[in-house]
Amino acid sequence: MPADSLRINTKGISKNTYDAIVIGSGISGGWAAKELCEHGIKTLVLERGRNVTHVKDYPTATKHPWQFRHRGRIPLALEKENPVVSKCYAFDESAQHFFVKDKEHPYIQEKPFDWIRGYQVGGKSLMWARETQRWSRFEFEAPARDGFAVDWPVRYEDLAPWYSHVEKFAGISGNKDGIEHLPDGEFLPPWEFNCAEKLIRQKVNNYYKDRRMLMGRCANLTKAGELQLQQGRTQCQARNLCHRGCPYGAYFSSNSSTLPWAEKTGSLTLQPDSVVHSVIYDEQKGRATGVRVIDAKTKQVTEYFARIIFVNAACLNSNLVLLNSTSNRFPNGLGNDYDILGRYIAFQNYRGSLNATIDDFEDEYYYGRRPVSPLMPSFRNVYKQETDFLRGYLVFWGAYRNTGNENSNESIGANFKDAMSEAGEWGAYMSMQGEVIPKHSNQVRLSKDVKDQWGIPQLITSVAYDDNDEKMVKDFLTQGAEILDVAGCKNIVQNDSKQAPGLDIHEMGGVRMGNDPKTSMLNKWNQLHACKNVFVTDGACMTSVGNQNPSLTFMAITARAANYAVTISSIALSTCASSS
Ligand SMILES: Cc1cc2nc3c(=O)[nH]c(=O)nc-3n(C[C@H](O)[C@H](O)[C@H](O)COP(=O)(O)OP(=O)(O)OC[C@H]3O[C@@H](n4cnc5c(N)ncnc54)[C@H](O)[C@@H]3O)c2cc1C
Ligand code: SF4
Repeated sequence: MPADSLRINTKGISKNTYDAIVIGSGISGGWAAKELCEHGIKTLVLERGRNVTHVKDYPTATKHPWQFRHRGRIPLALEKENPVVSKCYAFDESAQHFFVKDKEHPYIQEKPFDWIRGYQVGGKSLMWARETQRWSRFEFEAPARDGFAVDWPVRYEDLAPWYSHVEKFAGISGNKDGIEHLPDGEFLPPWEFNCAEKLIRQKVNNYYKDRRMLMGRCANLTKAGELQLQQGRTQCQARNLCHRGCPYGAYFSSNSSTLPWAEKTGSLTLQPDSVVHSVIYDEQKGRATGVRVIDAKTKQVTEYFARIIFVNAACLNSNLVLLNSTSNRFPNGLGNDYDILGRYIAFQNYRGSLNATIDDFEDEYYYGRRPVSPLMPSFRNVYKQETDFLRGYLVFWGAYRNTGNENSNESIGANFKDAMSEAGEWGAYMSMQGEVIPKHSNQVRLSKDVKDQWGIPQLITSVAYDDNDEKMVKDFLTQGAEILDVAGCKNIVQNDSKQAPGLDIHEMGGVRMGNDPKTSMLNKWNQLHACKNVFVTDGACMTSVGNQNPSLTFMAITARAANYAVTISSIALSTCASSS
């Protein structure tokens, strides 16, 4: 629906005016809201999905497997109706209510792209796997060093204090490992390795100089600190049922942490069921003045106004909102003077994995279900270019014990039931998280003729792997097999899932940061170069994608930008003419 044909209800401009508007209430939007509200900024958070209240709206959190009609599995009909989202490992009977269903929110895959979304208050912060490593100086220096993308306008030192800021509040567990390319943070106690992992780790760390087997860092509270107790959160019970929502608030989500904290300040207005159509740009004022919102249920259109706008709809949706924000000044999308918006979309390469068995621990077991995986930081091209592909991959790995029925030919009966209560073989696994190089040709754009049920143009995804990614998968599979062999594992099986981009759920870019307005969209404070009262601080802002999980970096970047937004004067905010 073109903006000028919308029937708009302004409800009286003053009633709909706030100091700041945040689009999206997920991981990054929650942080923007918290930081802004703590500074007394009256903040409206607009969320397209339904409200999800912490604890009350986690209907499956304490259910046993036998209390689910399909024992936790997705029925065939639901799977068929949802060919994209059903590929996600976390989309099961216990958590499917947090995932966007394919039919309800269609998009156009010019090239295959599995777009996994969570449209509700809290966004994907409810469903995520909580792996939270800092990026290092090497990731921020990589584009300039290796000659791809554009140089980041920030360095690790700019973000380090903000990593500390978000880690202390969110509660991140980890071990201080003293590794330059996986910097230590403000850690709660680490999770423990099991007996098989201890042996694998010892063998691998002794054999290689450049490969370190470490415990993962994650946003699960191994011990609740004072700041988490103040949030009403407490210690993790090691159940690994987190993607259902945690009644203990023991993992970080917007719902358990940033949003209630922002609400306590009295400065937050949280408005669910509000689909942001576009950002309103005022040519006379030379800045954005607000946003146009469609009520998700009634489809009524309302405008809201503010001097600061944070776009945190998650990478591809932030691209969509900006592409749809057209005006005379910006006919190709807000701030898009040089055809950069929607381009340089990148993601993380999850295709490679390995499985194996490991002997010698038949009389040992472990307690609880640790909600985090051990990892091995990238060892490829860290200090200099060494391989025939650019950048590297982080490796997740671990060992586990099957139940005795795992290799049984039977699937019913007394023997099968007996075997289920016995411990089975030990297994080991490895999987890759590779850095994909951003490319001009990997893009999203808006359909000119196909719209969604709110009259908003559908997004077209045109994103693919290239030769660099293929070489990286091969290298990981070869190196992974060697590492498992060194660790004493047997029956090693290599697997290239060939999965489409997107299923990693770490898509980034399209509104990238950079120093030059001709080659980037955002400056070093995440302001649009061409419209400085609009900040983009979710994955869309990322210049390159690193090999570490990205969400901790989104949090740190958001907190930094929000604090900048409150410190700059209202005069600076009211003009888009000043330099970066
Ligand atoms: C199963 C799974 C496992 C994951 N594991 C990890 C992990 O271990 N580590 C890690 O770092 N990351 C992980 N991620 C990714 C992580 O969840 C995301 O990077 C993170 O949530 C992104 O934060 P965000 O604020 O950008 O987006 P989201 O958290 O997705 O929030 C965006 C919000 O914006 C809303 N929105 C969208 N469009 C509009 C609109 N037009 N108007 C109003 N609101 C809108 C959405 O409904 C949503 O609530 C995982 C994700 C999943 C699903
Ligand atoms: S494992 Fe911990 S964080 Fe996850 S649901 Fe259980 S108690 Fe909550």
